[in-house]
Amino acid sequence: MRIFKSFSKAEQGKALIARTIINTSILTGAFFLTGINQFVQAKSKSIVAVEPLTCDLVTAIAPPSSPIQCLFDRKQDVHDIKIKPRQAQRLKKATQVFTLGQEMSPAMKKWLNNPITVVVGVSAIEIDNHDNHDAHDNHDAHDNHDAHDNHDAHDNHDAHDAEHSTEKHEHHFHAGLDPHIWHDPQNIIKMSRIISKNIKKNYSFLDTKTRNIVNERYQSVESILKDLDQWAKKQVSTIPNKNRWIVSKHKAMRYYGEAFGLRTLSLLDFLGHSSSLRPKAISFIIGELRKNNIEIIFAEQKPPSKLIKNLSKQTSIPISSKPIYVDGLMPKGSTISVAVHNTCTIVNSLGGLCNKEEGQQIEDRWHLLIK
Ligand SMILES: [Zn+2]
Repeated sequence: MRIFKSFSKAEQGKALIARTIINTSILTGAFFLTGINQFVQAKSKSIVAVEPLTCDLVTAIAPPSSPIQCLFDRKQDVHDIKIKPRQAQRLKKATQVFTLGQEMSPAMKKWLNNPITVVVGVSAIEIDNHDNHDAHDNHDAHDNHDAHDNHDAHDNHDAHDAEHSTEKHEHHFHAGLDPHIWHDPQNIIKMSRIISKNIKKNYSFLDTKTRNIVNERYQSVESILKDLDQWAKKQVSTIPNKNRWIVSKHKAMRYYGEAFGLRTLSLLDFLGHSSSLRPKAISFIIGELRKNNIEIIFAEQKPPSKLIKNLSKQTSIPISSKPIYVDGLMPKGSTISVAVHNTCTIVNSLGGLCNKEEGQQIEDRWHLLIK
Protein backbone atom coordinates (compact mmCIF):
# COMPACT_ATOMS: atom_id res chain seq x y z
CA MET A 1 0.00 0.00 0.00
CA ARG A 2 1.34 3.37 -0.92
CA ILE A 3 1.54 6.05 1.72
CA PHE A 4 -0.02 8.94 -0.09
CA LYS A 5 -0.05 12.09 1.88
CA SER A 6 -1.03 15.69 1.37
CA PHE A 7 0.71 18.08 3.71
CA SER A 8 -2.17 20.41 4.10
CA LYS A 9 -3.68 17.47 5.92
CA ALA A 10 -0.71 16.39 7.94
CA GLU A 11 -2.77 14.95 10.76
CA GLN A 12 -4.77 12.87 8.37
CA GLY A 13 -1.50 11.70 6.90
CA LYS A 14 -0.25 10.55 10.27
CA ALA A 15 -3.42 8.61 10.81
CA LEU A 16 -3.00 7.05 7.39
CA ILE A 17 0.55 5.97 8.14
CA ALA A 18 -0.60 4.47 11.43
CA ARG A 19 -3.36 2.66 9.59
CA THR A 20 -0.91 1.40 7.03
CA ILE A 21 1.29 -0.02 9.75
CA ILE A 22 -1.61 -1.75 11.44
CA ASN A 23 -3.05 -3.03 8.19
CA THR A 24 0.30 -4.37 7.10
CA SER A 25 0.71 -6.19 10.39
CA ILE A 26 -2.74 -7.67 10.22
CA LEU A 27 -2.38 -8.68 6.61
CA THR A 28 0.95 -10.35 6.98
CA GLY A 29 0.23 -11.64 10.43
CA ALA A 30 3.60 -10.28 11.43
CA PHE A 31 4.51 -8.39 14.56
CA PHE A 32 3.78 -4.71 14.92
CA LEU A 33 7.53 -4.17 14.78
CA THR A 34 7.52 -5.17 11.12
CA GLY A 35 5.24 -2.25 10.47
CA ILE A 36 7.55 0.11 12.34
CA ASN A 37 10.51 -1.11 10.30
CA GLN A 38 8.61 -0.57 7.10
CA PHE A 39 7.75 2.91 8.21
CA VAL A 40 11.37 3.74 9.05
CA GLN A 41 12.51 2.34 5.73
CA ALA A 42 9.81 4.24 3.87
CA LYS A 43 10.72 7.44 5.64
CA SER A 44 14.37 7.08 4.70
CA LYS A 45 13.42 7.10 1.00
CA SER A 46 10.95 9.92 1.01
CA ILE A 47 10.22 11.37 -2.38
CA VAL A 48 8.45 14.72 -2.51
CA ALA A 49 6.65 15.84 -5.66
CA VAL A 50 5.76 19.52 -5.64
CA GLU A 51 2.96 20.00 -8.17
CA PRO A 52 -0.06 17.64 -8.27
CA LEU A 53 0.69 16.74 -11.91
CA THR A 54 4.32 15.97 -11.07
CA CYS A 55 3.07 13.87 -8.17
CA ASP A 56 0.84 11.87 -10.50
CA LEU A 57 3.74 11.18 -12.88
CA VAL A 58 6.17 10.23 -10.12
CA THR A 59 3.52 7.96 -8.58
CA ALA A 60 3.03 6.19 -11.91
CA ILE A 61 6.76 5.50 -12.29
CA ALA A 62 8.10 4.92 -8.77
CA PRO A 63 7.87 1.39 -7.32
CA PRO A 64 4.52 0.98 -5.52
CA SER A 65 6.44 0.28 -2.31
CA SER A 66 7.96 3.76 -2.37
CA PRO A 67 6.00 6.47 -0.55
CA ILE A 68 5.39 9.63 -2.58
CA GLN A 69 4.48 12.82 -0.81
CA CYS A 70 2.53 15.45 -2.74
CA LEU A 71 3.49 18.88 -1.48
CA PHE A 72 0.45 20.82 -2.74
CA ASP A 73 -3.13 19.82 -3.35
CA ARG A 74 -4.87 20.42 -6.65
CA LYS A 75 -7.04 23.26 -5.44
CA GLN A 76 -4.03 25.53 -5.40
CA ASP A 77 -2.78 27.44 -8.40
CA VAL A 78 0.85 26.34 -8.70
CA HIS A 79 1.78 29.62 -10.38
CA ASP A 80 0.99 31.25 -7.07
CA ILE A 81 1.94 28.74 -4.39
CA LYS A 82 3.75 29.90 -1.29
CA ILE A 83 5.86 27.42 0.60
CA LYS A 84 4.80 27.37 4.24
CA PRO A 85 7.30 26.51 6.99
CA ARG A 86 5.84 23.02 7.37
CA GLN A 87 6.22 22.37 3.65
CA ALA A 88 9.76 23.75 3.76
CA GLN A 89 10.47 21.15 6.44
CA ARG A 90 9.21 18.40 4.13
CA LEU A 91 11.41 19.66 1.34
CA LYS A 92 14.41 19.68 3.67
CA LYS A 93 13.77 16.15 4.90
CA ALA A 94 13.15 14.66 1.45
CA THR A 95 15.59 12.30 -0.22
CA GLN A 96 14.48 13.59 -3.58
CA VAL A 97 12.27 16.44 -4.77
CA PHE A 98 10.58 16.52 -8.18
CA THR A 99 9.21 19.78 -9.57
CA LEU A 100 8.19 21.45 -12.82
CA GLY A 101 10.63 24.20 -11.84
CA GLN A 102 10.42 27.90 -11.31
CA GLU A 103 8.83 28.70 -14.67
CA MET A 104 5.64 26.99 -13.53
CA SER A 105 6.08 27.24 -9.76
CA PRO A 106 8.10 30.41 -8.99
CA ALA A 107 8.05 29.53 -5.28
CA MET A 108 10.50 26.68 -6.03
CA LYS A 109 13.18 29.08 -7.21
CA LYS A 110 15.23 29.01 -4.04
CA TRP A 111 15.08 25.21 -3.85
CA LEU A 112 16.62 24.63 -7.25
CA ASN A 113 20.19 24.70 -6.01
CA ASN A 114 19.45 21.90 -3.61
CA PRO A 115 21.25 18.85 -5.07
CA ILE A 116 18.26 16.60 -4.34
CA THR A 117 15.92 18.71 -6.48
CA VAL A 118 15.09 17.26 -9.88
CA VAL A 119 13.47 19.62 -12.38
CA VAL A 120 11.21 17.88 -14.90
CA GLY A 121 9.67 20.99 -16.46
CA VAL A 122 10.40 23.23 -19.43
CA SER A 123 14.01 23.98 -18.45
CA ALA A 124 14.84 20.27 -18.26
CA ILE A 125 13.54 18.90 -21.53
CA GLU A 126 14.20 19.54 -25.14
CA ILE A 127 11.14 20.88 -26.89
CA ASP A 128 10.44 19.65 -30.41
CA ASN A 129 10.36 22.29 -33.05
CA HIS A 130 6.87 21.98 -34.39
CA ASP A 131 5.87 24.33 -37.21
CA ASN A 132 6.30 27.88 -36.17
CA HIS A 133 8.10 27.94 -32.93
CA ASP A 134 10.21 31.06 -32.80
CA ALA A 135 9.65 31.69 -29.15
CA HIS A 136 11.30 28.42 -28.31
CA ASP A 137 14.65 29.41 -29.73
CA ASN A 138 15.74 29.72 -26.14
CA HIS A 139 15.75 25.99 -25.93
CA ASP A 140 18.95 25.71 -27.87
CA ALA A 141 20.60 26.62 -24.63
CA HIS A 142 19.21 23.46 -23.10
CA ASP A 143 20.79 21.01 -25.47
CA ASN A 144 22.87 19.31 -22.87
CA HIS A 145 20.08 17.80 -20.85
CA ASP A 146 21.98 14.97 -19.34
CA ALA A 147 23.72 17.66 -17.38
CA HIS A 148 20.58 18.03 -15.33
CA ASP A 149 21.06 14.59 -13.93
CA ASN A 150 24.12 15.57 -12.04
CA HIS A 151 22.92 18.53 -10.18
CA ASP A 152 25.94 20.71 -10.59
CA ALA A 153 24.14 21.77 -13.70
CA HIS A 154 21.66 23.66 -11.58
CA ASP A 155 24.10 26.54 -11.69
CA ASN A 156 22.51 27.12 -15.05
CA HIS A 157 19.43 28.28 -13.27
CA ASP A 158 21.11 31.49 -12.28
CA ALA A 159 21.01 32.39 -15.91
CA HIS A 160 17.29 31.68 -15.97
CA ASP A 161 16.74 33.87 -12.94
CA ALA A 162 17.68 36.96 -14.85
CA GLU A 163 15.64 35.87 -17.83
CA HIS A 164 12.50 35.27 -15.82
CA SER A 165 12.64 37.96 -13.20
CA THR A 166 9.90 39.87 -14.99
CA GLU A 167 7.34 37.12 -14.57
CA LYS A 168 7.95 36.57 -10.90
CA HIS A 169 4.84 38.17 -9.49
CA GLU A 170 2.71 38.21 -12.56
CA HIS A 171 -0.14 35.85 -12.05
CA HIS A 172 -0.89 33.84 -15.16
CA PHE A 173 1.27 35.93 -17.36
CA HIS A 174 4.32 34.09 -18.53
CA ALA A 175 6.84 36.45 -20.01
CA GLY A 176 9.57 33.81 -20.34
CA LEU A 177 9.50 30.13 -21.25
CA ASP A 178 5.99 28.75 -21.48
CA PRO A 179 5.94 26.09 -18.75
CA HIS A 180 2.72 24.24 -19.75
CA ILE A 181 4.64 21.53 -21.59
CA TRP A 182 2.51 18.53 -20.55
CA HIS A 183 -0.26 19.47 -22.97
CA ASP A 184 1.89 17.67 -25.56
CA PRO A 185 2.01 13.97 -24.54
CA GLN A 186 5.43 13.66 -26.21
CA ASN A 187 6.75 16.10 -23.61
CA ILE A 188 5.26 14.03 -20.78
CA ILE A 189 7.27 11.08 -22.12
CA LYS A 190 10.43 13.16 -21.82
CA MET A 191 9.48 14.25 -18.31
CA SER A 192 8.83 10.63 -17.38
CA ARG A 193 12.23 9.60 -18.68
CA ILE A 194 13.91 12.08 -16.30
CA ILE A 195 11.75 10.84 -13.43
CA SER A 196 12.52 7.18 -14.06
CA LYS A 197 16.26 7.81 -14.42
CA ASN A 198 16.37 9.72 -11.13
CA ILE A 199 14.18 7.33 -9.17
CA LYS A 200 16.55 4.50 -10.10
CA LYS A 201 19.36 6.47 -8.48
CA ASN A 202 17.71 5.73 -5.13
CA TYR A 203 18.45 2.04 -5.60
CA SER A 204 21.77 0.28 -5.74
CA PHE A 205 22.90 -1.37 -8.97
CA LEU A 206 22.58 -4.66 -7.12
CA ASP A 207 18.88 -4.06 -6.56
CA THR A 208 17.97 -5.20 -10.06
CA LYS A 209 14.51 -6.24 -8.92
CA THR A 210 13.44 -2.71 -8.00
CA ARG A 211 15.27 -1.16 -10.94
CA ASN A 212 13.41 -3.50 -13.28
CA ILE A 213 10.11 -2.55 -11.67
CA VAL A 214 10.87 1.12 -12.42
CA ASN A 215 11.86 0.22 -16.00
CA GLU A 216 8.65 -1.71 -16.54
CA ARG A 217 6.52 1.08 -15.08
CA TYR A 218 8.27 3.61 -17.29
CA GLN A 219 7.56 1.39 -20.33
CA SER A 220 3.86 1.29 -19.41
CA VAL A 221 3.80 5.08 -18.93
CA GLU A 222 5.45 5.60 -22.32
CA SER A 223 3.05 3.25 -24.07
CA ILE A 224 -0.02 4.89 -22.47
CA LEU A 225 1.24 8.35 -23.45
CA LYS A 226 1.92 7.29 -27.04
CA ASP A 227 -1.63 5.96 -27.27
CA LEU A 228 -2.95 9.18 -25.73
CA ASP A 229 -1.05 11.14 -28.38
CA GLN A 230 -2.53 9.05 -31.20
CA TRP A 231 -6.00 9.17 -29.71
CA ALA A 232 -5.89 12.99 -29.35
CA LYS A 233 -4.62 13.38 -32.94
CA LYS A 234 -7.53 11.28 -34.17
CA GLN A 235 -10.09 13.30 -32.21
CA VAL A 236 -8.72 16.69 -33.28
CA SER A 237 -8.71 15.55 -36.91
CA THR A 238 -12.53 15.54 -36.78
CA ILE A 239 -12.63 19.34 -36.22
CA PRO A 240 -13.39 21.27 -39.42
CA ASN A 241 -10.25 23.18 -40.50
CA LYS A 242 -11.79 26.64 -40.23
CA ASN A 243 -12.69 26.04 -36.58
CA ARG A 244 -9.23 25.06 -35.40
CA TRP A 245 -8.65 27.79 -32.85
CA ILE A 246 -8.21 27.62 -29.10
CA VAL A 247 -8.99 31.01 -27.63
CA SER A 248 -8.47 31.15 -23.88
CA LYS A 249 -7.35 33.49 -21.17
CA HIS A 250 -3.69 32.79 -20.55
CA LYS A 251 -0.95 31.36 -22.70
CA ALA A 252 -1.12 27.72 -21.72
CA MET A 253 -2.35 25.72 -24.70
CA ARG A 254 0.35 26.51 -27.22
CA TYR A 255 2.09 23.14 -26.85
CA TYR A 256 -1.26 21.48 -27.33
CA GLY A 257 -1.99 23.57 -30.40
CA GLU A 258 1.40 22.85 -31.91
CA ALA A 259 1.17 19.12 -31.22
CA PHE A 260 -2.30 18.66 -32.67
CA GLY A 261 -2.61 21.37 -35.28
CA LEU A 262 -4.70 24.12 -33.69
CA ARG A 263 -3.95 27.82 -33.64
CA THR A 264 -4.01 29.44 -30.22
CA LEU A 265 -4.86 32.92 -29.07
CA SER A 266 -4.34 33.96 -25.46
CA LEU A 267 -6.32 36.98 -24.42
CA LEU A 268 -3.82 38.07 -21.78
CA ASP A 269 -1.12 38.30 -24.45
CA PHE A 270 -3.02 41.24 -25.85
CA LEU A 271 -4.47 42.62 -22.70
CA GLY A 272 -1.84 42.19 -20.03
CA HIS A 273 -3.53 42.02 -16.65
CA SER A 274 -7.25 41.64 -16.65
CA SER A 275 -7.34 44.40 -14.06
CA SER A 276 -5.84 46.92 -16.46
CA LEU A 277 -8.07 46.57 -19.49
CA ARG A 278 -7.82 49.42 -21.90
CA PRO A 279 -10.60 50.15 -24.39
CA LYS A 280 -8.08 50.17 -27.25
CA ALA A 281 -6.78 46.71 -26.37
CA ILE A 282 -10.31 45.42 -26.00
CA SER A 283 -11.38 46.66 -29.40
CA PHE A 284 -8.22 45.20 -30.94
CA ILE A 285 -8.92 41.77 -29.48
CA ILE A 286 -12.56 41.93 -30.56
CA GLY A 287 -11.30 42.67 -34.07
CA GLU A 288 -8.96 39.65 -33.92
CA LEU A 289 -11.75 37.35 -32.75
CA ARG A 290 -14.07 38.51 -35.54
CA LYS A 291 -11.38 38.45 -38.22
CA ASN A 292 -10.60 34.81 -37.47
CA ASN A 293 -14.25 33.80 -37.18
CA ILE A 294 -13.71 32.48 -33.68
CA GLU A 295 -16.62 30.23 -32.78
CA ILE A 296 -15.99 29.75 -29.09
CA ILE A 297 -13.96 31.09 -26.18
CA PHE A 298 -12.70 28.46 -23.76
CA ALA A 299 -13.16 29.14 -20.07
CA GLU A 300 -10.30 28.11 -17.79
CA GLN A 301 -12.44 27.99 -14.69
CA LYS A 302 -15.99 27.62 -13.55
CA PRO A 303 -17.67 30.08 -13.52
CA PRO A 304 -15.72 31.77 -16.34
CA SER A 305 -13.64 34.83 -15.51
CA LYS A 306 -15.08 38.34 -15.88
CA LEU A 307 -12.78 39.01 -18.81
CA ILE A 308 -14.14 36.04 -20.76
CA LYS A 309 -17.73 36.91 -19.89
CA ASN A 310 -17.29 40.51 -21.03
CA LEU A 311 -15.65 39.54 -24.30
CA SER A 312 -18.31 36.96 -24.96
CA LYS A 313 -21.02 39.56 -24.36
CA GLN A 314 -19.41 42.14 -26.61
CA THR A 315 -18.72 39.73 -29.47
CA SER A 316 -21.64 37.33 -29.08
CA ILE A 317 -19.10 34.50 -29.22
CA PRO A 318 -20.26 31.80 -26.79
CA ILE A 319 -18.16 30.44 -23.92
CA SER A 320 -17.41 26.69 -23.78
CA SER A 321 -19.95 24.90 -21.60
CA LYS A 322 -17.12 23.16 -19.74
CA PRO A 323 -13.79 24.72 -18.75
CA ILE A 324 -10.48 23.36 -19.98
CA TYR A 325 -7.94 22.67 -17.23
CA VAL A 326 -4.71 24.29 -18.31
CA ASP A 327 -2.56 24.50 -15.18
CA GLY A 328 -2.48 20.93 -13.95
CA LEU A 329 -4.91 18.28 -12.83
CA MET A 330 -8.68 18.48 -12.56
CA PRO A 331 -10.35 18.19 -9.13
CA LYS A 332 -10.40 14.42 -9.75
CA GLY A 333 -8.44 12.11 -12.02
CA SER A 334 -4.97 11.92 -13.47
CA THR A 335 -2.63 13.40 -16.06
CA ILE A 336 -4.51 11.32 -18.64
CA SER A 337 -7.97 12.34 -17.39
CA VAL A 338 -7.18 16.01 -17.85
CA ALA A 339 -5.87 15.41 -21.38
CA VAL A 340 -8.97 13.41 -22.31
CA HIS A 341 -11.28 16.00 -20.77
CA ASN A 342 -9.54 18.93 -22.48
CA THR A 343 -9.41 17.17 -25.83
CA CYS A 344 -13.10 16.18 -25.78
CA THR A 345 -14.12 19.68 -24.60
CA ILE A 346 -12.07 21.28 -27.40
CA VAL A 347 -13.13 18.81 -30.10
CA ASN A 348 -16.84 18.82 -29.26
CA SER A 349 -16.95 22.62 -28.85
CA LEU A 350 -15.31 23.16 -32.24
CA GLY A 351 -17.65 20.94 -34.22
CA GLY A 352 -15.68 17.68 -34.11
CA LEU A 353 -16.67 14.35 -32.65
CA CYS A 354 -14.76 13.05 -29.63
CA ASN A 355 -14.63 9.36 -28.76
CA LYS A 356 -14.56 9.71 -25.00
CA GLU A 357 -14.94 5.99 -24.29
CA GLU A 358 -11.70 5.27 -26.10
CA GLY A 359 -10.04 8.06 -24.10
CA GLN A 360 -11.39 6.61 -20.89
CA GLN A 361 -9.83 3.24 -21.69
CA ILE A 362 -6.45 4.98 -21.80
CA GLU A 363 -7.29 6.68 -18.49
CA ASP A 364 -8.10 3.29 -16.95
CA ARG A 365 -4.69 1.88 -17.90
CA TRP A 366 -3.02 4.81 -16.12
CA HIS A 367 -5.23 4.31 -13.12
CA LEU A 368 -3.86 0.78 -12.70
CA LEU A 369 -0.39 2.29 -12.27
CA ILE A 370 -1.30 4.89 -9.66
CA LYS A 371 -3.97 3.12 -7.60
ZN1 LIG B 1 -0.54 28.71 -16.39
